[in-house]
Amino acid sequence: MNTGDKLFARLLNRQLGPSQPLNSPVVPSVGLQLYLDDDGHVEHLSGPLRHLLVQQRPGSHTAPLLEYLLPHSSLALEGRPADWQGQLLDLDFFSLAGPPLHLRGWVQAQGDGWLLQLLDIGDLLGERRQARSREQCQWLATQVRDQLRLGSLARLPHELSEQLQRLGQHLHIPSLAVALLDEQGQGWQIHQYYAAPNAPQVWRDQQRLGTALDSLNGALPQRLLASEQPRLSALLGPNEGFAVPYRDAQGVAAWLLCAGYNAAQQAPDLNDHDWLLLAAAVAAPLLERLREHRHHQQLERLEILQALLGTGWWEVSSASAEVQLAPTLAEHLGLQAERISIENWFSHVHPADRDELRSHLQALQDDGTPLELCVRLQTSEQSLPLWYRLQGRSLGIGAERRLVGFMLDISDIKNQQQQAAAAHARLDNLIASAPAVIYVQRYVEGALQPTFFSASLQPLLGWNLADCADGRLVEHVHPEDRPRYFERTRQLLREGSVSARYRVLDRQGQAHWLLDEAKLLRDDLGLPVEAVGLWLDVTEATLAAEQVKASEERYRILVEDSPAMICRYRPDLTLTFGNRPLATYLECAPEQLPGVNLGNWMSDEQREAFVQRLAQLTPELPVSTAEINLRLPGREHAWWVWSDRGVFDEHGRLLEVQAVGRDNTEVRRSQQQLTQSAKMATLGEMATGLAHEINQPLNVMRMAIVNVLKRLSNGDVQIDYLTDKLNRIDAQVQRAARVVDHMRVFGRRSEIEQHPFNPPDAIEGTLALLSEGLRGKGVELRIKEAGFEVQVRGYVDQLEQVLINLVVNARDALLGKRETHRDFQPWIAVHAECDEHVVRLWVEDNGGGIDPRLLERIFEPFFTTKPVGVGTGLGLSVSYGIIENMGGRLSVRNGDEGARFCIELPIAPDDQITR
Ligand code: ADP
Repeated sequence: MNTGDKLFARLLNRQLGPSQPLNSPVVPSVGLQLYLDDDGHVEHLSGPLRHLLVQQRPGSHTAPLLEYLLPHSSLALEGRPADWQGQLLDLDFFSLAGPPLHLRGWVQAQGDGWLLQLLDIGDLLGERRQARSREQCQWLATQVRDQLRLGSLARLPHELSEQLQRLGQHLHIPSLAVALLDEQGQGWQIHQYYAAPNAPQVWRDQQRLGTALDSLNGALPQRLLASEQPRLSALLGPNEGFAVPYRDAQGVAAWLLCAGYNAAQQAPDLNDHDWLLLAAAVAAPLLERLREHRHHQQLERLEILQALLGTGWWEVSSASAEVQLAPTLAEHLGLQAERISIENWFSHVHPADRDELRSHLQALQDDGTPLELCVRLQTSEQSLPLWYRLQGRSLGIGAERRLVGFMLDISDIKNQQQQAAAAHARLDNLIASAPAVIYVQRYVEGALQPTFFSASLQPLLGWNLADCADGRLVEHVHPEDRPRYFERTRQLLREGSVSARYRVLDRQGQAHWLLDEAKLLRDDLGLPVEAVGLWLDVTEATLAAEQVKASEERYRILVEDSPAMICRYRPDLTLTFGNRPLATYLECAPEQLPGVNLGNWMSDEQREAFVQRLAQLTPELPVSTAEINLRLPGREHAWWVWSDRGVFDEHGRLLEVQAVGRDNTEVRRSQQQLTQSAKMATLGEMATGLAHEINQPLNVMRMAIVNVLKRLSNGDVQIDYLTDKLNRIDAQVQRAARVVDHMRVFGRRSEIEQHPFNPPDAIEGTLALLSEGLRGKGVELRIKEAGFEVQVRGYVDQLEQVLINLVVNARDALLGKRETHRDFQPWIAVHAECDEHVVRLWVEDNGGGIDPRLLERIFEPFFTTKPVGVGTGLGLSVSYGIIENMGGRLSVRNGDEGARFCIELPIAPDDQITR
């Protein structure tokens, strides 16, 4: 029924009754009647609504109808009342009550004027408006629901925000929010909110509302006004507003909250049902989408978990003989499809496991026997098969029966198991083949009875457990060692552990030395239960130890009886052991030697050199040999050839020195004698030269004296002349004295100990003895000043002797050559040079050199090319020994014009070179 029909119905039913015609003239008891003149001025008003009318410009009696109307209604009235006939007029009047009066009516002629008959249709319009707004509300709800349902999951928050905005804007709600239960389902939380521009901020994102909304849950689904619910008003702040619940099967699942909003005023046409509809339009799809989101995440997690673990579900459909696998599992197994035929599946199972799996699956299918099996699966041609644990259950019954299960990659565990098993087997094997036997003996009434032997017993002794049971073990113990075995058992029971050594006879009667290490295990009360032990065959080690002992004894006897002096001493030179020959030499008993310091028998210098030599011993070069010189109290000097061997700890520190010595005094002495006689021979040889050396000053003196005497006989003696001559004589006397002195020094025996000296000094000494003689023989001496001073250790007189030898040999060679070459200009050059470590003295001549074939032999004793009676053949041999004794070297080679001898001597480390 439309509004027009309703109007007439109202007129007919209520006011007019069924028989009254539609256009009956006046019905003054209802609505409003306006009597108008031809121009549309109101002449008279009647009807109950007339009291509500408000005239725009009150005062004039006959106001135009337009003055009573709202502006938009006045537009509908054009012209005069006569023009309005036959139309239904909808007119809105200003009303005293506030809202305008919505009236409908028609114009009819009335006397000479016009009657405008109007009825109130305000309620009819309201209903229509309500119906429209409800329609709009439904449309809005559908829109919101569809948008939330259809958008992508990723855009859900954005979509929700847009839909809240749409609702807010549409219904002019300044603040609007959806509250959902939090993840634990404990309290409420703002899920999302919308605030119109300029609207006050009522909520925050994710704001927790606690359980404030819970207490409202019990209420029937309806809109709850803040003004009636103090707890709600606390949530909405100072604003008025309301909350609309959304219920699902579990109860209230969401709230739509509106704040700063008076629904009665702003949306008077919406009732509770409409609000519930709107709340459901937002909450239902939102919750559904969130559930979908959670489900999606769970699936994702599950998939990742499956992929990580190499696991996944499988399902066999017996009807189609197909297997369906979780996608991750199919991928892990390298299968192309997720649904494959059962035979195809079996073909991936290792042949060894295939039949078993088939039979288990059959049992699951037939009787529902749960399946649990480990199988190998070949994932690709190249790789090793993977181990899987397969578990399955059957679901449903009859034709509906489904076989469902999962597969878990357990290759890691299987591999570890296999490795452990292999290690175990290796260990077993090792024990079985080792020369060790593990045994267990049970404690039975005070005795220990063997109950277990490892398999190694058989190969070692040839016995088995039965051969040793019932007290028969003792029979196999070597009769001599049985007391030891019994003592071992007693100690084991007494002390809880034991380590013993005894012989056991094997099946062939051969004795084996066994090291027995055993431990006693006790029960809770401390009573012995069993002994666990180990037999180790130490026969070889025991025999070897016996051999070592025997060889040690032999070694001791060797040391004791050795003619050589053998001792051990600490790095501070204190003796810890010395053998008999050493004790005899030192005139004491061997027992007195330990504690004596070797250094007591050395001079300070000797001791220092000795300690320095020891300091140079290293684990790599632990041996050093030297000739040492000892001063034994009340006896003459002793010379020992002494060989030291250092003993070091693991850090390379010297712990002890073992030394072997031989008395070299006799050899030394004869060497000294030899040197001395060689020296005397040299002196003898030089006799002619020396005569010349002394003759020269004598001649000068004689000439001076003859001249003085001549002057005296003439009586022509001046004092100056006399003084001059006497001074000359004095100088010559001194010169002769120097030569004689030097000869005396030279002829003396060498010192016992070496002393530091400067080698060029020996050159000077040599020249003092020889230079005049050489010049007399027409041999030119080419001497180069050394220009440096260094210290070497040795005997200056012996070096001088060597130099004399070399110079005299050169002289002989030169004079020999001159006999055949008249114009020959002989020369001898002597010079010294040095570097950081050595000093070299060169003696060189132009005598033509030494026959190369003889070069190697000239240092041999008694080798000479000189006629019998002239040469001794000892000069170079002795010289060689002297230089060697000073730690140096004497060598020769042929130069351009003659022989070049070189004496090399080491510079004493502490003495600096001064140039
Ligand atoms: P002697 O001088 O008594 O023969 P040496 O041992 O001093 O004994 O010398 C051995 C030999 O070496 C000499 O006989 C000589 O043949 C040779 N000889 C030594 N020095 C020279 C030299 N400067 N030039 C040539 N031959 C030399």
